[in-house]
Amino acid sequence: MWPDGAGASPYRLCGATAASPDPFPVGSWPWARGSVGLAQGAGHGSRPGGRPEIKADPADQRRLLDLQGVDTALAQLAHRRRTLPEHAEIARLRGTRNHLASDLVGADTAVSDLEREQERAENDLEPVRERLNRNQHRVADGSVGDPRALGSLVEEIDHLKRRIDTLEDSELAVMEQLESATEGRERLRAEAGELDTQLGLLSTKRDRQLRELELEMSDRQVLREGIVPLIPAELLRLYDKVSATHAGIGAAELRHRRCTGCRLELNSADLRAFAAAPADEVLRCEECGRILVRGPESGL
Ligand SMILES: [Zn+2]
Repeated sequence: MWPDGAGASPYRLCGATAASPDPFPVGSWPWARGSVGLAQGAGHGSRPGGRPEIKADPADQRRLLDLQGVDTALAQLAHRRRTLPEHAEIARLRGTRNHLASDLVGADTAVSDLEREQERAENDLEPVRERLNRNQHRVADGSVGDPRALGSLVEEIDHLKRRIDTLEDSELAVMEQLESATEGRERLRAEAGELDTQLGLLSTKRDRQLRELELEMSDRQVLREGIVPLIPAELLRLYDKVSATHAGIGAAELRHRRCTGCRLELNSADLRAFAAAPADEVLRCEECGRILVRGPESGL
């Protein structure tokens, strides 16, 4: 709950522990003894909960809000970069494309298997056709005089014709399968081509947006680099620490008695304590723990 390691609300814990002795003992401060949300020492001190307090020029505290504005913008840009709709769409299309690629491997295999089968069928037919042709010539040229030999030759011719019919039927069936397998493969190839085009367009669109976001981010980064050196190191460390555990918001403005970090209104005790706090006291929201920066509209 308390990002700086105090571990609990300052209302409930009292003083420093043996593990973290308070280097700034209570005693030298004239104001707000026992109040909440205030430093208990001059310069440095600790809250009632043991949370170390720091002091910083009010102008430097206000600069934290400028830094916060830049950091929030950077976080939003990074979020947009991560969540571009094109990322999801590209991932979805790539999934489909990968399926298609494996379907295409299957289709290529089917086509080449059928091509081989057709070649085999043609090879089977060739000797049968040749034999039929030879026999028909022998019958036609009258070279076979023996009627019994002629009879068996004619019988063989009939048998060869039936055999050729059967082989041609199976070759035709293979050719039909080959035609439909080739058409199927062409459809898959066309689909894959279309997906590749879509993926290309989407990637171009995504990359363009990423470049624009990168440019916006580097502009903000330049702004950030201009602000950071103006903020005292100790205050900056505290801001970084709180930001890291508070969804990237380490500093919030106190506006109309409300913390703009957690949106909660100050209770009357905090209100009194904050109103009494010197301007260079770095305040923390008692609800969310964020650095609370006062301004003209704090309502104190
Ligand atoms: Zn708050």
